[in-house]
Amino acid sequence: MNETGSGARETSFLKKKFSEHYSRSLPVPPALAQRELGFGWEKKIDYRHKAFASPGEFRSFMVSEAPLFVSYSTAYYEFPGARPMEKKGYLGSDVVFDIDIQHTEEPHAHNSLICPACIERAKEDALRLAEDFLCSDFGFSQKEVSVNYSGSKGFHLHVLSDAVRQLPASARAQLADYVAAQGLDAARLVTGAGDKTREKGAAREAIRGPGSKSRGWGKKIFDYCAGFVSGASLESFKEAGLTRKEAERIVSEKEFVLKKMREGNWDAVAGLDKLWKKAVADAVAAEKVVVDRSVTIDQARLIRLPDSIHGDTGLVAKKCDLKRFNPLTDAVAFPEGLARVRAEEDLFVPILGKAIEVRANVPTDVPLAAAVLLLCKKKAVLVQEY
Ligand SMILES: [Zn+2]
Repeated sequence: MNETGSGARETSFLKKKFSEHYSRSLPVPPALAQRELGFGWEKKIDYRHKAFASPGEFRSFMVSEAPLFVSYSTAYYEFPGARPMEKKGYLGSDVVFDIDIQHTEEPHAHNSLICPACIERAKEDALRLAEDFLCSDFGFSQKEVSVNYSGSKGFHLHVLSDAVRQLPASARAQLADYVAAQGLDAARLVTGAGDKTREKGAAREAIRGPGSKSRGWGKKIFDYCAGFVSGASLESFKEAGLTRKEAERIVSEKEFVLKKMREGNWDAVAGLDKLWKKAVADAVAAEKVVVDRSVTIDQARLIRLPDSIHGDTGLVAKKCDLKRFNPLTDAVAFPEGLARVRAEEDLFVPILGKAIEVRANVPTDVPLAAAVLLLCKKKAVLVQEY
């Protein structure tokens, strides 16, 4: 714990605020007595192998120690506080997916403190992971999937189901690889497409692909490619490498082409074969969800406790309904109050629907939520608390 030296005042202020928050609102892991807990004040996990027999005991710890980071085991143990790991008595574990990548392919005014655009993008991925993979392809019910904001850039999806608890690491790896399209052989799903060895005029088999009744990746690729054909103009077909004559024919016979595609025939008129290699690759790139594979596989993993505060932001790792969730409002732990801070550079904090500005070296009163975020990020010092 950093109680002396630089940052001591800020750390003790944050601890006081976190403690107040936990005395008002305590997150408790499901099956607390079977979970290993880990806590951090300096790092994300300064120590682990901690166990609590009851919510009351956990509450006392949280309020008195006010850790800046709280993690719990995805695993259930007979003796969660025992060490080394072998003595814990592993009973199974939840399956967790961690979406935490920075998307840089779409340029935007990125805010390195906290970026609404990047979080929005992660939220879209989390929603697709929940709906198109966990519920649709894997068959989990919505009740079995608990979603929470990470408190920083990403989202965590916890599958809390008896059906997954005993899965070995190899099966967990398969789940992670499936959603990330790792090892997906898309060419097998659209046969004959992009075959460069085909000689002009030589006899060839019709291209077969997934249809409207396909499932899994086949259905995702079908939907994407049919959507492309449906929405494409003459110009976009030409840009995709078709001659004007081929493009005109597809445009004029679009309904026929789409009807045949629904039946699994991706070769209804000449020129279509030129589309599929790129369209299928685009489909996979658009539909896959990049997850941190190690989080899903590792059965001894500690992960941020849902509804605890993330010590890098002061935002709550809030359980949420992705369709109506705005982290920079809904996950704010300290929606009221002010504090005066000073930063060494011009900073901009988009929080609580406001654009909070702090000018370099100008002590500034800001909403407590913005002050906490800047102190957590070590981007400002505390001048005055109110
Ligand atoms: Zn960004």
